[in-house]
Amino acid sequence: MSKGRGGGAAPDTRRFLNEAWGIDPEAVSVMEEAESSLAEDFAQIDRRAAYNQLRLLHVFQKNGVTDFHLNGSTGYGYGDAGREVLESVFADYFRGEAALVRSQIMSGTHALAIGLYGLLQPGDELVSAAGRPYDTLQKVIGLGGEAGSLLKSGVSYQEIPLKEDMGVDLPRLLESINEKTKVVLIQRSKGYQWRPSIDMPEMKGILGAVKKKKSSVVCLVDNCYCEMTEEEEPGAYGADLVIGSLIKNPGGTLAPSGGYIVGDSSCVEACSRRLSAPGLGSGLGASMGFNRPAFQGLFQSPQTVSQSMKGAVLAAAFFSALGYPVMPEGRLAGRADIVQAIELGDESKLVRFCQAIQRACPLDAAFLPEPASLPGYSHPVIMAGGGFIQGSSSELSADGPLKPPYIAYLQGGFSLAQIRLGLLLAAKALVSGPN
Ligand SMILES: *Cc1c(COP(=O)(O)O)cnc(C)c1O
Repeated sequence: MSKGRGGGAAPDTRRFLNEAWGIDPEAVSVMEEAESSLAEDFAQIDRRAAYNQLRLLHVFQKNGVTDFHLNGSTGYGYGDAGREVLESVFADYFRGEAALVRSQIMSGTHALAIGLYGLLQPGDELVSAAGRPYDTLQKVIGLGGEAGSLLKSGVSYQEIPLKEDMGVDLPRLLESINEKTKVVLIQRSKGYQWRPSIDMPEMKGILGAVKKKKSSVVCLVDNCYCEMTEEEEPGAYGADLVIGSLIKNPGGTLAPSGGYIVGDSSCVEACSRRLSAPGLGSGLGASMGFNRPAFQGLFQSPQTVSQSMKGAVLAAAFFSALGYPVMPEGRLAGRADIVQAIELGDESKLVRFCQAIQRACPLDAAFLPEPASLPGYSHPVIMAGGGFIQGSSSELSADGPLKPPYIAYLQGGFSLAQIRLGLLLAAKALVSGPN
């Protein structure tokens, strides 16, 4: 065992992994080999995180955040100074004029539904730019004839299928825009699809072209899983509304619930009437204990996102070395979300993969996740994750719909050491057969 200059022995991680979790040292070598090819990508992730951290720190200082703002209000929540400053911090960081950042927003889907219902009136048309939207949004739109959906309320809908290379079909998108088009929905992350995420250069091109075709169209970006993965956010290039969940990236694993809506002030105001009620708008909503973890989680999210990004890039390189197709490939270039898709090709492998990720978690590690039907999803879904916030996917987690070709979607993780363990346990579970 080597002795460091400081006198302490180098920790024998390999041996500990073997003793504590039965990890074969040979598998550790395969993963280390994959990781050693990623040094430049990891350095780039660190540089991005450092830049985003400083930009965020500057936004905190510019908005004069104080200890007092960490306190919350009760009851109606009138004049909640912490809530107001939190919202202006989000607005500044995400390059909008105004923001709603509320614990009363239940999930990313709820935040997106507030955006869509806030903006679309009967007779208006919604266009989805990046193919079929995320599963739960299909029900909000009403693709299965759902009661209370946008389609049922007289909104019309067009969907622009992705091109063969899974990019956005810009000419077809522009062609679809007509006098009724009110909102163009741009989903950046892959959802449960085998496609790359939409990075900032592509986003900039889409936003510029749509605005040039019809400047009054509202470009609504589903930013779930994409926050802080690059040096810029879609608001910088003309997105009118940018929406996401606080139990994903911008909650920094600390926000206990909630979502955000950032953008043009008239659009955010329209959303606030949907969130509360006409006449009430954004002026009330008790923050209770929410302000402190929301501020702190946002502040630490560049760091947690950088760990998750390294984990995703490493997962791609490692599972690709083990012979599985991965999306995206094992490098950073073009990657704009923290989600790594791994095609396992077999139902029992998907279940075992997710069960192995569960064993790498700090809580509920002995639970055995099983596929289940969940509200908003059409196929049974298996979801693994034992984090501190229920269902939080900024913490290490894996999930996937039970349908061919049985793709595992892996994301999150507050520390790369934990993500490495998850990957090793998952690789072991794939070869060891049913439990
Ligand atoms: C997670 C996600 C959502 C919203 O999901 P919730 O589980 O409702 O928070 C929407 N769109 C995309 C692309 C997502 O990844």
